[in-house]
Amino acid sequence: MASIKGSADVVVIGGGVIGLSVARALARRGVRDVCLLERSSVGSEASSAAGGMLLPQVEADGHDDFFALACRSRDLYPSLAAELRDETGIDIELDTTGTLYLALNEHDYEDIEQRYQWQTSAGLAVELLTSAAARALEPCISEATFGALRFPKDIQVENRRLVTALANSVNALGVKTFTETTVEKLVIEGHRITGVQTNRGSINSQTVVVAAGAWSSFLLQSAPNPAVTPVRGQMVCLESKPQLTKHVIFSPRGYLVPRQDGRLLAGSTSENAGFARLVTAGGIASILRHALQVSPVVKDLPIVDTWAGLRPRAADGLPVLGPCGEIDGLFYATGHYRNGILLAPLTAELISEAIVARVTSPLLAPFSPDRFSSQPVVSV
Ligand SMILES: Cc1cc2nc3c(=O)[nH]c(=O)nc-3n(C[C@H](O)[C@H](O)[C@H](O)COP(=O)(O)OP(=O)(O)OC[C@H]3O[C@@H](n4cnc5c(N)ncnc54)[C@H](O)[C@@H]3O)c2cc1C
Repeated sequence: MASIKGSADVVVIGGGVIGLSVARALARRGVRDVCLLERSSVGSEASSAAGGMLLPQVEADGHDDFFALACRSRDLYPSLAAELRDETGIDIELDTTGTLYLALNEHDYEDIEQRYQWQTSAGLAVELLTSAAARALEPCISEATFGALRFPKDIQVENRRLVTALANSVNALGVKTFTETTVEKLVIEGHRITGVQTNRGSINSQTVVVAAGAWSSFLLQSAPNPAVTPVRGQMVCLESKPQLTKHVIFSPRGYLVPRQDGRLLAGSTSENAGFARLVTAGGIASILRHALQVSPVVKDLPIVDTWAGLRPRAADGLPVLGPCGEIDGLFYATGHYRNGILLAPLTAELISEAIVARVTSPLLAPFSPDRFSSQPVVSV
């Protein structure tokens, strides 16, 4: 493997949806020399494992900073889809049909009534449907449905196409992408970052963005460390031709996501299983049990694929975004947990703005890396 050496204006570590989106936004803001370093191949981890749902409203029980961030990012998707189609010819299959959230028991129904109340009083788009109305809209859903919420603005994107489009876009914009390249450590001198050391050589840079997903904390041993850990999610891919549903069907325990090519994704699990990206019998059993509760007709569909991915979760479950107060030139774009596809467009805008215009948006303040300490995280 050829060694790499030299310097870059900005180094971005990680070629998932976050690193690719940040690199693209930097290049579009005129940064000439952006270098993206990816340990494996681009999009090979969580970003390809995801369901591609863009659902800030579906599970939100109040209007907080995270909700504001998530809604803004979702609303950037139509323009992002149009730009990526122009730049690369790739359709990222942004499907704006909307999402149905099912109540499958009385307790679920109490929850959806409350969600309906606060979201309608906040002026958000949401409809409360009877069981009959929900089944008229999507006949595949269970007869046991108590009622449903329809979220017309909570939509979905084909995240693997998104990753491919972003990778093509950054190449066209002149970003230097090095795959099979592992960043072994950040080089920090005093209170400033001066570059990175990789398995293929060192790169000098005054600006480094850590977007290494579930592995981010390994790189942040001498910096404020958000203790990002992997939360495994498994997925079952069924085939349904014609497609079973037009909406994304969500419930408190499982979901179905229809793709244009006839794939129907059933997800997911949420497991603390370290870095073992395994598909397990128990995981698949639990996903199918919940998928059958949502839609009993799923039982006749063939299973065509299964996979697992590692969601990057920070210690407090919130994203970690923005400049590091302690170390000049170090930026964080990690900890996106269950919402990295949703948050990618706004993350890219805000991080690139902070780097290029040196303006840190107030939207970033609640997610600053400075809320974490630089003391090593002690595990018990
Ligand atoms: C089953 C499942 C379903 C999901 N569904 C949704 C959904 O519907 N909607 C949604 O918004 N989100 C969803 N998510 C979450 C979403 O996938 C993640 O939040 C998002 O992909 C995180 O993106 P990332 O770029 O930070 O991480 P990743 O995609 O994991 O990318 C990080 C990259 O960094 C690289 N890397 C790590 N360490 C190094 C190093 N030292 N040097 C170089 N490279 C390195 C890795 O190889 C990897 O490619 C889901 C996740 C899972 C697992």
